Amino acid sequence: MHIIVPIKQVPQSSAVKMDPVTGTMIRSGSAATLNPLDLYALETALCLSERSAGSVTALTMGPPSAAQILKEALSMGASRAILLTDRLFGGSDTYATSYALSKAIEHIGSFDLIITGERATDGDTAQVGPGIAAWLDVALVTYVSAINTIVDRTMEVERLTEEGYQAVRLTLPALISVVKEIAIPRLPTLRGKKRAMNTPIEEWDARTIGADIGKIGLKGSPTRVVKIESPKVARTAEVHIASDEDSMKGAVDRLIDIIEEVYHG
Ligand SMILES: Cc1cc2nc3c(=O)[nH]c(=O)nc-3n(C[C@H](O)[C@H](O)[C@H](O)COP(=O)(O)OP(=O)(O)OC[C@H]3O[C@@H](n4cnc5c(N)ncnc54)[C@H](O)[C@@H]3O)c2cc1C
Repeated sequence: MHIIVPIKQVPQSSAVKMDPVTGTMIRSGSAATLNPLDLYALETALCLSERSAGSVTALTMGPPSAAQILKEALSMGASRAILLTDRLFGGSDTYATSYALSKAIEHIGSFDLIITGERATDGDTAQVGPGIAAWLDVALVTYVSAINTIVDRTMEVERLTEEGYQAVRLTLPALISVVKEIAIPRLPTLRGKKRAMNTPIEEWDARTIGADIGKIGLKGSPTRVVKIESPKVARTAEVHIASDEDSMKGAVDRLIDIIEEVYHG
């Protein structure tokens, strides 16, 4: 079984800084890390490939520094690592990012399964996985919390919903995005780190993957970030001490008044 895991380099959450003038994220100079939610995708892929004597390819689109997260994927056990990097990709929105990643996957060739994280902790849209599935025209199941069976080309999974779980049967090749409940990510071993040091990272640009220049970068991105604002939180407080039945009733009545004020103005 050949599994492809798209992974993303994100700023460490404690290091995220916003430009107060432009409202955009300042990426340069801030510490970067592997999107923590992608560790669950990697772990799921590694477990499946170990069971089927398969292989795992880690793929990222980002600046040259994103090679660092591919090394991490290799040290966990991925067998191949591909860095999609080109100035032409700069400014890509989720539409252009998922297009570029899908072209890279086509260039890789055959695969059985693509596993993405639930979402990236910076952009946070959860659109890239579904976008890749749409570009490649393969089945998509999001928020997968368990893989129950894989028999021939049929996979049965559990999907987390707001109400509980949904059982879904799908045919491979397919793309799933996974949630934290699916696995406990392993730590890289010393052997894994040594192997990662000796495994070259393949660097591909827009030309390598045969990308249509009109569909990548800022020009190929149909969305524009017009404005980013930090939410203004105004906190006011009232303290009511409910020591007997009357004061308890008074406090509850006041609470109901506040809720009505908030919702009905
Ligand atoms: C108009 C516009 C301009 C932008 N310009 C820039 C820019 O100049 N520079 C910039 O860095 N970002 C830019 N972005 C943000 C960029 O679009 C997102 O970083 C990217 O598309 C990923 O979206 P996300 O973070 O919401 O990922 P999600 O959709 O939340 O990620 C879900 C999963 O998809 C996979 N994934 C996501 N991104 C990647 C990736 N790059 N490589 C491999 N796998 C991935 C991971 O498995 C991840 O867990 C721009 C966005 C917009 C809308």
